[in-house]
This record gives sequence, C-alpha cells and structure tokens, in this order.
Amino acid sequence: MKKLIFILLLFSSCSPKISFVEEVLKLDEFQLGKTYIQMPKEYNYEEPEIAVDSNPESVVQKSMPVECKIRILGAYTTLAGNNSADIVSLIELDIDDFNTINSNSLVDFQVEIARIVELTGYTEVGTESPNPLMPVWSYSDNILRFWNPTDGFMDEVHDLRNLYDADMCQMYLDDLAGPGGIAMEVNVDAPNAFCASLWDNGGFTPVHELGHLIGMWHNVESSPPFDNYNWEHGYYNDDNVTGTNFRTIMSYSSACNGSCPRVAHWSNDDDTYLGLPTGSTATHDNARIARFRDQTVSLFQANQINKSVFQNETVDEDEVGDIYGSATITTSNNIVIFENGSKGTYRAGSQIKLLPGFHAKKGTSYTAKIVMPCSALN
Ligand SMILES: [Zn+2]
Repeated sequence: MKKLIFILLLFSSCSPKISFVEEVLKLDEFQLGKTYIQMPKEYNYEEPEIAVDSNPESVVQKSMPVECKIRILGAYTTLAGNNSADIVSLIELDIDDFNTINSNSLVDFQVEIARIVELTGYTEVGTESPNPLMPVWSYSDNILRFWNPTDGFMDEVHDLRNLYDADMCQMYLDDLAGPGGIAMEVNVDAPNAFCASLWDNGGFTPVHELGHLIGMWHNVESSPPFDNYNWEHGYYNDDNVTGTNFRTIMSYSSACNGSCPRVAHWSNDDDTYLGLPTGSTATHDNARIARFRDQTVSLFQANQINKSVFQNETVDEDEVGDIYGSATITTSNNIVIFENGSKGTYRAGSQIKLLPGFHAKKGTSYTAKIVMPCSALN
C-alpha cells in the first residue's frame, strides 16, 4: 500500500521577512482531495501542520473528475476598494452568480477566480478615447488602459494573467464615464478578453460584461446591426397584464413598457422562467453561445500540466491568488509571498513543491491541495 509521502526538507529562516520552506507533496490514492496547509514557522502555533479531511468517502466524492473551469482575473482600483466594504467578497459573489446563471440555463461549464488584485498606484481618470477595436464608440480611458499591455498603465495585469492562467479579465471601478459596465469587444479573441464594471452597479452587470466577451449581445432592439450569430440576443418578457415581466442577463430594460427585472438566466430556447420561455431558437439563445464558445474561451490561457510560479509575486491583503497545475506546481526559487489578510490556493494533480522564497505569512488563508486533474471542456 502506498503511503503518504510528506517531506519537510528545510524549515528555517534566514530573514525576518521570508521563511525558507521546502515541501514535496506526492500523490497516492489516499491523498486525493485532502488539503495540506503550508505552515511558515510563525504559523505553527495556531494551526496543525497538515489538515486532512477526516471523511474518506467525501474526499473521494469531491475528487471525482470534473471539467476544467474558465478562469477569471478581477482587478479593482484603490478607489473602488476603499469605497467598498468588502470588494473581495463582492467579486467572489459575481463568480457565484455566473455559475448560478449557467446552472439555471442548462449550461454546464463553470468559472472560477484565478486572481483578485488591487491596481495599486493606478488613479482613475474621467477621460474617454475611441475604442481601437470598435472605433465607432468612445470608451473610458480606464478600460482602454486596462486592456493595453504596453502603454505603461496597469501592464502588470497582463503578467498576472499569464501567471494565473486567467482566461478573462474584469476591472472594477468607481466611475466608468456613464455605463455601468463595458466590454472591449463582443465574441473576443484572447488578447481582447477585457471588460470593466462599476463595483457598486449590481444587477449582474459584471456577468453581463463577461457574456459580451464570450459572444452574447443585448435584446434585438438594443444591439447594433452586426451579428456574429443570429441567436446571440438576450430576451425579455414584457407582460404588464399578468405581472410576469422579466429580462435575461444580456437584455436591456428599455424595450419593456414596464420594468423588467433582470433574472439569473441566459436567454435560452430550451428553458423557462415562471413557466414562460426565456428565448427562441432563431434569435434569443445566449445559452447556445455559452456552450458553443466555452472551450475556445477556456483555452485563452490553457491550464498548464507542470505549472511554474515563474516570477516574484506578492498577494497582498484583500487579494486572492489561485494557481492550478494538472500535474505539478513548483515555485522557482523566486520570492512568492502571501501577505496577512490574503487568500491563496495551489492545486495540482500529483505534486506541489514550494521552494525557498515561498512564504505564506501569519494571517493568510493558504492551502496547497492535491486534486483530481480536470479535463478540458468539450
Ligand atoms: Zn451590454
């Protein structure tokens, strides 16, 4: 019988700021789904060195093969962070909303957070410029700068996108010069998978903008006349008589005579809300767009088999970092720090190797976890 191999090779500190720890976690059949918590020296008194799920049956069930998820990077300005009581929870709620909408709409892929990062040092501006991808419209310079990888503004976001394999990137702002949210383009390729939302707009706006990136458009009356797909539109039910007004995530309310509250559904030719249709085969089927495009979007930043944490990286307070390797994760003797108040997860199929320079400080919530590798979306 294979036994758990847990090697703590070195556990010392040469610096007051960085703990030098090397661990090797190796897979055997009894490890799947168990959680290993990396303990810097200063952390030992508060938590057990290794936390293991005590119910093997539930471990097996949690580790059943699943499809890989589409990964999202959420970046917030300092102003948005300061004005929000808890912007990390707010972004996490957007991800939960996206998955709920997919589930309600018979769409079987899921999204997950790759990184939540504060855009430290960036100051929001109120200016606008033509969007190079759709010059007919002017966009807030904030999102144009977020999207542009070489203009000297927020360029570190693109490095983080590579490090964390984030397929789509969303910026959270305090002001967006008019709209509640905006996407660089509809039906994007990988370099243009950038959108932005007001942190306090609510109403599923961040999910709506991600929907644009995937390929979805508004209700027919509120969409421009350059369709990618005939069935790309959101749907609304305008029925003041019975009081069943509603609109799906991508639909505007402006076409409704009354108010049409947005509900957690994509338009769909094969689904209902309150017993009523949520779409049509010919024109309103955002769920079909999601199913048609999910694999392409998931490959904007393909999951790595052997993932290297290849650059110095600090996950600060009120930030999240999640790294996934289908076989292994290895830090590379560079400085990787999870600061007090951050959250982090490393998940790999067989081995997670944390080399000197890695430090999850006291007050972080960090786990290294061996998991069943996910399979590509199909
Ligand atoms: Zn829109």
